[in-house]
Amino acid sequence: MNNKSVPLTGISSVAIHAGDRNFAEYSHLTPIFATSTFVFDTAQQGMERFAGEDPGFIYSRWGNPTFRVAEETIAALEAFNITEADGNPVQLKALLHASGQAAMTTMFMSNLKSGDTLLSHFSLYGGSHELMHKVLAQNGINTIIIDMRDLNVVEDTIRQNPAIRLVHIETPANPTIQCVDIEAVAGIAKQHGLIVTVDNTFATPYLQQPFKYKVDFVFHSTTKFLNGHGTAIGGVLLGKDIDFMTDKAWKWYKLLGGNSNPFDAFLLIQGMKTLEVRMDRHCSNAVAVTDFLSGHKAIAHVNYNGLSDHPDYTTAKKQMRHPGAMLSFELKGGLKAGKKFIDALQMCVRAVSLGTVDTLVSHPASMTHYGVPREDRIRYGISDGLIRMSTGMENIADILNDLEQAMEGL
Ligand SMILES: *Cc1c(COP(=O)(O)O)cnc(C)c1O
Repeated sequence: MNNKSVPLTGISSVAIHAGDRNFAEYSHLTPIFATSTFVFDTAQQGMERFAGEDPGFIYSRWGNPTFRVAEETIAALEAFNITEADGNPVQLKALLHASGQAAMTTMFMSNLKSGDTLLSHFSLYGGSHELMHKVLAQNGINTIIIDMRDLNVVEDTIRQNPAIRLVHIETPANPTIQCVDIEAVAGIAKQHGLIVTVDNTFATPYLQQPFKYKVDFVFHSTTKFLNGHGTAIGGVLLGKDIDFMTDKAWKWYKLLGGNSNPFDAFLLIQGMKTLEVRMDRHCSNAVAVTDFLSGHKAIAHVNYNGLSDHPDYTTAKKQMRHPGAMLSFELKGGLKAGKKFIDALQMCVRAVSLGTVDTLVSHPASMTHYGVPREDRIRYGISDGLIRMSTGMENIADILNDLEQAMEGL
């Protein structure tokens, strides 16, 4: 519990102490409030809670004390050291969801209606692509996909399509690690009065803070680096229009029913405490892996935005503290070599997902992007032989040894 009159100056201190952590029974850690509903002392108090005059909890689909600690912590991390034009600290409101997909659904459904169009970049998380093209499309919301790294294309597309209402940026993007310039794209979008949303899952607020720019909403799959240990699926939606978040977004959250649960929220709270130290290790390991792979004879190409030959190197440098822990690469032998390599790994784990303490290796064409039509996939740079790696926190020598032995004979 920090003394609020002494500001916290470091992001780990915020991750460990943010939010109201004064609990009953002097519990040191955030309790798991495993309860579906909350008690009213009187009918009058119940009425006041429903009217929003009493801030007490009502029902866990609407909010829960364990969720609230996680929400306040993520909001504090995303807002860390950012000020508004008037010099006041940025205020954010977060809603904790059952998954990143649920948070994204609340975000899109509360901001878009039938007849609206959404604009996004061509390299995207598979679930985001499918949500846009299947669920939103069926509800009359169209999606236009472009290369958002070309600002002229962004400007022209917005001019030619007056139905565009929202611009969605994922950066770095899965699985090509492409980066979109948040400041530039948000700047153009705002000139046209559009809503700007960012998927900050790959970067985390430690590496990138989209609210520094003219961004309205950020969401995370907390399943990844924020939880950090692969123990729970979760998502969070953050917004800086507090009225919208407490009114419309909260209504949609309650009605769509995508709330988190107290145990997963607890795991997330615990995981976030070590975000900074974990990310530092993930990131330094990723740089070492990139150096190793770049010089290897079996490798055709490495996608890592910390490499000066990556097309988005400058964008990453501009908006990220460090290029991050995600990378992908192409083996010279294509799909066949890719499969052989993945099967030969002994320590690194063959699994989708990312952001866990262990190194995870996956094959987008057969796994995460299986649902994306092949021609789209290839157009997005997701070739048949592309391997994606979420660099873990193991000792670097063991990661490199495993990669080396798995590439033998390729
Ligand atoms: C995992 C992920 C999602 C979806 O989140 P879930 O927690 O799996 O629902 C969205 N965007 C990105 C970039 C992701 O990595």
